[in-house]
Amino acid sequence: MKIICIGRNYTEHIEELQNEKPEDPVIFMKPDTAVLPDQQDFYIPEFTDNVHYETEVLVRISKMGKHIDEKYACNYYEEISLGLDLTARDVQARLKEKGLPWEKAKGFDGSAAIGNWVPKTIVDDVNKLEFYLKKNNEVVQNGDTSHMLWKIDELISYVSKYFTLKKGDVIFTGTPAGVGKLSPGDQLRGYIGEEEMFSLKIK
Ligand code: MG
Repeated sequence: MKIICIGRNYTEHIEELQNEKPEDPVIFMKPDTAVLPDQQDFYIPEFTDNVHYETEVLVRISKMGKHIDEKYACNYYEEISLGLDLTARDVQARLKEKGLPWEKAKGFDGSAAIGNWVPKTIVDDVNKLEFYLKKNNEVVQNGDTSHMLWKIDELISYVSKYFTLKKGDVIFTGTPAGVGKLSPGDQLRGYIGEEEMFSLKIK
């Protein structure tokens, strides 16, 4: 499986990192080794002093597709989740400055925390999904998929122009504002609506 991540998909987050608003979706990938195994704690790697959480709605691709028309994109995923695009922000800043790829900052082992998968049918509308992240019992990030610059179906269609989507691939759909630094001892819990999707301890 591959992990396809969308960057800069919420206006306030673009502003908080002082990035330019993109003309097309920003895409990067994480290798399958980035997946943080279930129930495992996240250990801050030694090569960074500034790991950020980015809470994102996830979709899991349910069948193979290429050049998927936006109006059929909804047929290519059945499950959604919430996850964390864990980012070594200091490493990323150095790479961005030099115009280099972000993989070392975004694709390292454990950098993709994936919550429980639930059928998309349990929500009324995936384009009106409220989600939030609690760090040590305080809400630090909340988002609503209605604020995405590119909606899930548009993303699936766009991504599939470049990369064949296969069953089991996961799309991270971008983070809203409120990203921040993690410290050892932090406890993170992610929610879609009132449903807890993941719980993660930082070491
Ligand atoms: Mg992200």
